[in-house]
Amino acid sequence: MAKYVFVFGGVVSGLGKGIVAASLGRLLKLRGYKVQAQKFDPYLNIDPGTMNPTQHGEVFVTADGAETDLDLGHYERFIDENLTKYCNLTSGKVLWRVLNNEREGKYLGKTVQIIPHVTNEIKDFIKRNVDETKADVMITEIGGTVGDIESQPFIEAIRQFIIEVGRANCVVIHVCLTPYISGSDEYKSKPVQHSVKELQSMGISPDIVVTRSATDCGQEIRDKIAMFCNVARDCVISNTDVECLYEAPIMLHKNGLDKAVCRLLGLKEDCDLAEWTTMLDKVKARTGDLNIAIVGKYVTLHDSYISIIEALQHASYKVGRHLNVHWIDSEKITADNAPAKLKGMDGILVPGGFGSRGIDGMIETARYARENGVPYFGICLGMQIAVIEYARDAAGLKDACSGEFKEGSKVIDIMPDKLGLNLGGTMRLGAYPCMVKKGTRLFAAYGEEKISERHRHRYEFNNEYRETLEKAGLVLSGISPDGVIVEAVETKGDGYFVGVQFHPEFTSRPNRPGALFVSFLEAANEYVLKK
Ligand code: GLN
Repeated sequence: MAKYVFVFGGVVSGLGKGIVAASLGRLLKLRGYKVQAQKFDPYLNIDPGTMNPTQHGEVFVTADGAETDLDLGHYERFIDENLTKYCNLTSGKVLWRVLNNEREGKYLGKTVQIIPHVTNEIKDFIKRNVDETKADVMITEIGGTVGDIESQPFIEAIRQFIIEVGRANCVVIHVCLTPYISGSDEYKSKPVQHSVKELQSMGISPDIVVTRSATDCGQEIRDKIAMFCNVARDCVISNTDVECLYEAPIMLHKNGLDKAVCRLLGLKEDCDLAEWTTMLDKVKARTGDLNIAIVGKYVTLHDSYISIIEALQHASYKVGRHLNVHWIDSEKITADNAPAKLKGMDGILVPGGFGSRGIDGMIETARYARENGVPYFGICLGMQIAVIEYARDAAGLKDACSGEFKEGSKVIDIMPDKLGLNLGGTMRLGAYPCMVKKGTRLFAAYGEEKISERHRHRYEFNNEYRETLEKAGLVLSGISPDGVIVEAVETKGDGYFVGVQFHPEFTSRPNRPGALFVSFLEAANEYVLKK
């Protein structure tokens, strides 16, 4: 029989509920349990696929091709289990299914209502995920803040679900902000009390309250919360700031989170943290800095590139250098100012993106990197930019471009079978295999002839230009097994100028860094040593 953990948030959003859920997942996995995590997002979009990254952060892509909330990236990185399309549910997706059922006459003429039709759909989703994954523990995080109008059907569905599977098989965690009031120099518990009351008014009493504050709010405040919120004294857990995200499981363990959860669910209380602490030792053992520029158009919100930052961090643990990320808005880069803006960088990464804004600056960035021998790593759009730059400068195709931006020599273009479709749900999504050419940097990185990485793109290398670009010296280092899709390119010689159509950031883990991120940071490290 599976066990269920539900994680709610209170007082404000952005409290790092996802990190709590992910950390708990790891702590349970370290006990040998099969753990899966899922996220409920109360907004009305079907999925975050069409949302602007500067509003909502990165779209995380699962191996089976679902476009999901960035918290799923945390779950995968911490728990190290591949998640699926059953792991992210939005109100939009629930309503879409309910309305389609209604049109198909599946409700047999009944009045279609939030309860039971919408709530049943939500409950089925949790059950389906457990059936598919055979998880011992299913952790469900509910996005937003308790009290939001949109989240009410989710809360009601969970209330019913808890009764159906039995209270003893469920733990409810409420993560709340515990503010520090500088004037009176103390932490305040009242917002937590109000938020717990709000959740209780909807029929759910939390078993555990996690207090979020920069530093420990103290036993007195925790005792007060325990008393007013009707939870056991050792079930009020401090969640404080940590220097490195991956210290969160250890911090929460020290503060008793997993112990309380295991006691409540009848799971093993002992846990061997050695594997995780060995990884953290590497984090601490780093010396020196690598200055890496991320040149993109969504740099105003760093969460837009969260998996890339994390993958760079993972690689930095392996390479043994601190990562110093410089955020550079590609819209502000021109041919004239590129040398000044990119001066001092040991590596340049151009990440994925959509639309024409900021493209010229990215092309100038790639040119600067290639001409000056600064390691360049292009991911998805960043690879397409590398191809365009190379086509313009090395292959003499002065008007080289992508069909996504403007007219000219479309060295990057839309895949013919995707023409004329809507923007939502029309991309090449999820994991696909790629054959790696021996003797390339790509091969040196992976050490394997066949790899698999996740994708999220609509445009790709235009095969009509293969010959021209290869003649000009571009190496097509990765190709799909059927020989049709160019998956990776690089230049010959000493420089590190690598572009990949796929997104290697999604499969990087703190203790298993993505191969290309390691090879990129190694190249950056060599570049520093040569300086
Ligand atoms: N906009 C490009 C495409 O659709 C690149 C996508 C991306 O970087 N994820 O192919």
